[in-house]
Amino acid sequence: MKFLDQAKVYLRSGNGGPGALSFRREKYIEFGGPNGGDGGRGGSVIIECGDSLNTLIDFRYQQHFKASSGGHGMGRDRSGAAADDVILKVPVGTQILEEDNETIIADFTEVGQKLVLCKGGDGGRGNAAFKTSTNRAPRKIEPGWPGEERWIWLRLKLIADVGLVGLPNAGKSTFLSATSRAKPKIADYPFTTLVPQLGVAAAGEREFVIADIPGLIEGASEGIGLGHRFLGHVERCRVLLHLIDGTEDDVAGAYLTIRKELSAYAELLADKPEVLALNKMDSLSDEEKKKKVKALKKVANKPIQMISAVTGENVEQMLFTLLEIVEAGKAEERAEQEAEMKALAGEEPSTWQP
Ligand code: GDP
Ligand code: MG
Repeated sequence: MKFLDQAKVYLRSGNGGPGALSFRREKYIEFGGPNGGDGGRGGSVIIECGDSLNTLIDFRYQQHFKASSGGHGMGRDRSGAAADDVILKVPVGTQILEEDNETIIADFTEVGQKLVLCKGGDGGRGNAAFKTSTNRAPRKIEPGWPGEERWIWLRLKLIADVGLVGLPNAGKSTFLSATSRAKPKIADYPFTTLVPQLGVAAAGEREFVIADIPGLIEGASEGIGLGHRFLGHVERCRVLLHLIDGTEDDVAGAYLTIRKELSAYAELLADKPEVLALNKMDSLSDEEKKKKVKALKKVANKPIQMISAVTGENVEQMLFTLLEIVEAGKAEERAEQEAEMKALAGEEPSTWQP
């Protein structure tokens, strides 16, 4: 099962700056030699794996990345300024492919990994560089060397950070469309009738992927309907957002139905951190709110957030709560990976024999 996020981008590195043609001319100095400096290096285009991104959404808004040209060389042996590199940050897990969208150039698996995709052109030499014993006043200079250009594909297997669960009518779709900055295109999805909705939500500067898993109904874990297969995707998320329709009479029953479903499918799923929210608070009286929270508290021993997907009340706050759990999960996973790598590195020398 694949949720692919992909983007085609154009990259161009900067040309090198041309060398300068210049001679030293000063009063009282008889033999002024050539003193044209070299041009500066053009900026390169570099891809770097960052840790604050989860999707390729940014590349939908900007598709062209061009570095500037190097500065001109100048008289008095001054070199032109080198241009800044342009750095594209991509999330962990991004694959870089050639324009054909098949040939893999690189697989970015670790934060900090870097690759120069278009090298900036070198600066041309100024005439000072061409001075020889036989030619003391060269008029020769080099133009800057050209930069490079190419189209590439970025491809990322999307993993939902947050799985949205709840009975039909709880407000999952409404919540998703209200919080989504963007809806990634879902490619290669094998089921045509029901498609999980993915959305990219933002909390401050950070973003994460929420998946609304439709068809999670009683019996889904026994393979009735498509719910079961979708659960495979929820299995990988870091936190569940459990929405409950606050206007429902039996909120405790609604909660238990979904919980039963989750543990019937897999303990792994039932053990995930769960954020519990009572939705549709806009249409509840204060008294009703109290009553529902109390009923829910009896079966779910955890904080209950009151939100309204329609009016947006308390929604942003909840996104931050979710983000915190997602990022903590990621940090933990990275620490585990690092510990594993270290353990492996420690073992290597003892097993190695000349
Ligand atoms: P889903 O089946 O869980 O995806 O639920 P939907 O998002 O389709 O919502 C079901 C119904 O509840 C729709 O008529 C929504 O307009 C309504 N709804 C969702 N969120 C809220 C809310 O916060 N307040 C109110 N009053 N209605 C809501
Ligand atoms: Mg829905």
